[in-house]
Amino acid sequence: MVIAIDGYSSCGKSTLAKQLAKRLGFVFVDTGAMYRAVTLYFLVHKVNITSIADIQSALDEIYIHFENINGENTTFLNDENVEAKIRSIDVSQFVSEVSAISTVRTKMVDLQRKMANQTGLVMDGRDIGTVVFPDADVKFFITADPQIRADRRYREATSKGQNVSLQEIMENLKHRDHIDTQRADSPLRQADDAILIDNSHLTIDQQFEWALTIIQKNQRSL
Ligand code: C5P
Repeated sequence: MVIAIDGYSSCGKSTLAKQLAKRLGFVFVDTGAMYRAVTLYFLVHKVNITSIADIQSALDEIYIHFENINGENTTFLNDENVEAKIRSIDVSQFVSEVSAISTVRTKMVDLQRKMANQTGLVMDGRDIGTVVFPDADVKFFITADPQIRADRRYREATSKGQNVSLQEIMENLKHRDHIDTQRADSPLRQADDAILIDNSHLTIDQQFEWALTIIQKNQRSL
């Protein structure tokens, strides 16, 4: 079974995906973390993103995997734990430009499709229900009020000791949503058969119970 969760930046997609994967015993994949890891590599190695040849040779050097460390899904880039680094504002400010590059997307989508296993998969991102798994069993599309999203992300960032202002976060969310929805390759959009959730006024648990009920109905009908 494949569950696809797409939506705007900082809507709590990964929070829902993790809860569902844990309850259902499915594999959880945060595809945003993969694009963030590529972006970190490009920043560290000063990859020229106007050169397809440079992008391709950089991608050939990139190996991404996930590990569960103390119950937390943790991203590794070439065997280095980069979970904290990929959440930095520097990476957030560049990730949508990198993610709009088709050569990058082709490699990521290929890796993501290989992550489907026999049991089940919950994958969150921007193009999961439209491009990566257009035949996913259940698709959710998540949105929330931009101010609420920025407040949530600000609280999360400052609780982790990041030095960032609410204004910077708000601008970054708008910037990413704009590029993610306008890019030529796999723009963010709601799949025709995706179920829309606006979680502005839902608690994390209310959203989880609601999504779980939909999945369980779907499982019974399989
Ligand atoms: O999910 P997260 O906000 O961490 O994703 C970071 C960025 O990665 C997004 O703003 C988007 O540019 C890109 N992304 C993407 N396709 C995905 C997942 C993320 O383009 N499937």
